[in-house]
Amino acid sequence: MSIFFGKKRCCRPVGVKVGVLALQGDVAEHIAAFRGALADRPGSSVVPVRQARDLAGLDALAIPGGESTTISRLIGKNGLHEPLAEFAGGVFATCAGMVLAADRVDDARVRPLSLIPMHVARNAFGRQVDSREAFLNVAGLADPFRAIFIRAPVATEVGPGVEVLARIPEGIVAVRSGRHMAFAFHPELGGDLRLHRMFLEGLGV
Ligand code: GLN
Repeated sequence: MSIFFGKKRCCRPVGVKVGVLALQGDVAEHIAAFRGALADRPGSSVVPVRQARDLAGLDALAIPGGESTTISRLIGKNGLHEPLAEFAGGVFATCAGMVLAADRVDDARVRPLSLIPMHVARNAFGRQVDSREAFLNVAGLADPFRAIFIRAPVATEVGPGVEVLARIPEGIVAVRSGRHMAFAFHPELGGDLRLHRMFLEGLGV
């Protein structure tokens, strides 16, 4: 006789629902990366977010790279500022997303979402070397991460409770704050999903 009764729902891994803010930027790359990182979690889904109602039921939200001034303008136009600022799940923000996730930005055209207490400077690498790759030591990863920087920001200051995961001479380039993570580079490019997995583990779902 089986010792299990009922539907055994207790022990089956539950799927994770991730949204990707799909107003501008490298949305498709974020969707593909999260689908890859969730391939071993049956019942998971990754969906685009364009309106406030798309946020319902999400465990996490990716805010992609792109142009933060444009994304900020479209957030306002779509009535998404408050819903995003109050989002209860974890946020995975890259590059322009890191600018938006901050609470202080050096450009008045960006209205930050204040998800992570940090000051972010846009385009912090200067005009001459605006894109580059670097092998970064990221706290929590056993081996360096090949980080792709494209007209990247840096955090110049972080508030209490924000853990700095990586820094380069220009400034802070990876942070964790509770369930949120932000990167000045693009973990969604390059095929290395270790940071996505670290983020998903931190969600606790
Ligand atoms: N420089 C862009 C901005 O501040 C970010 C670039 C990127 O996301 N690759 O919006």
